[in-house]
Amino acid sequence: MNEIDILKGIAENLSTRKSSAALNNYEVLGNNIKFLNDSFKWGSTLLRELQNRIETSFENDELVTDDFKDNTKSLFYFRKIIPRVILNDLSIIEKFISFTESDDRDGITLDNVVKLKKDFFDFNNLVTSSRQFIDSLVSESYQLCKLEPKELNFRVLTSLHSFNRYVTKSIKQALFNSEIENSLNEFNNLSNNKRFRGNESNITKCAEKSFGNKVDYLFERLDLTYESDFQSEVKDLFSFSSEFTHIGYVSTFFTSSNDSEILFTDDISPYFPSTENFSELKYEILETATKFFVKVYLPALNDALQKAFVTTSYASFSETLKQIIEKVAKDLKTRNNQYYFFIKQGLIESDNVINLPCICGTTRHWAAPHDMSKIYCSNCGSKFNLLEIEEDSGYIITCNGPVKVIGSDVPDFNELPIAEQIDLLKQCKEVNNKQINK
Ligand SMILES: [Zn+2]
Repeated sequence: MNEIDILKGIAENLSTRKSSAALNNYEVLGNNIKFLNDSFKWGSTLLRELQNRIETSFENDELVTDDFKDNTKSLFYFRKIIPRVILNDLSIIEKFISFTESDDRDGITLDNVVKLKKDFFDFNNLVTSSRQFIDSLVSESYQLCKLEPKELNFRVLTSLHSFNRYVTKSIKQALFNSEIENSLNEFNNLSNNKRFRGNESNITKCAEKSFGNKVDYLFERLDLTYESDFQSEVKDLFSFSSEFTHIGYVSTFFTSSNDSEILFTDDISPYFPSTENFSELKYEILETATKFFVKVYLPALNDALQKAFVTTSYASFSETLKQIIEKVAKDLKTRNNQYYFFIKQGLIESDNVINLPCICGTTRHWAAPHDMSKIYCSNCGSKFNLLEIEEDSGYIITCNGPVKVIGSDVPDFNELPIAEQIDLLKQCKEVNNKQINK
């Protein structure tokens, strides 16, 4: 291939877009987006309340550990800084949540379906808010884990340095006092090398310069090295969203096409392929961001609070963090799962309606002819796998408990005589013990 072959490929591909395919299920995506967005919103509301408690507690000398006690101690000023950091993060988190809400499909008809069309504005708002989210929260988690004056100075002075280059006089006056001006002057006079290194005489330090280095540091520090796929996912979201933020070729082309779209429809309303593509991306980003919130950001905050507060105060903050982490992580797990059902042989070929109850609480009433492409949960997107069982064996003993074979004539578990229930549970326990001893 020579350079003209490459250029030809680019010219052809980036000028006419192939008709976009809708590959997922819009209804399921909408449900999952709403579910996860609500869960994240709930978590951020609790974090806002917690921020308030932390701020108040930092005003009380009795509640903080020795390193934070008075202004002779190196970490004293973090008593004002930590609550401020959380407030900043909340603004970014809340903005992100508002850009990842599910589409409102109420009252959408052929006349107004255009409301659901997604274009450059929508994609750009979603992805740039994701970029801001992941970039800021990685950087803040890093600061919370480090709690080092020089590291924080570097972060703030770098930010001030850029801000100062273009800001108007009036804003500058409202923000900067002479103390800050002096700090900034001192920072500006340092060579790049000195800004980063943090030797004894220096005022700033940055041990992990790039986004990727900070991510690696955090995963190591928070004992998350077993999550290497997720570690890559965080870096991939950063690269992907940077492309949008810098108005890259591919993203602008993909999102600004004027091509007319074909119309799809499902049980709820008509919609466009771009609407579904957009939802698919939105869900993927929302999932990565929510995971980052509970796996990295909140544990980093927990780490800082443990250093700063005496045991009793820390325990109460930590309890709230644990509550958020557990619920949101559990919510994440219930989406797009794989579940297995045991089913009596021959039932699939029959005319019976087969009820497949999903863990999320929605039951699929699977009617004949039993189309295998329809066995998923329309609420949470989980896929169902069927394992056919010969004869009527009633219950299958698994290490998670007894599971009734669908189509079996035996009574439901809670309608069995107590003695039989206990017997089944005993058998399951034995299976479980055998698994553990293997
Ligand atoms: Zn479900």
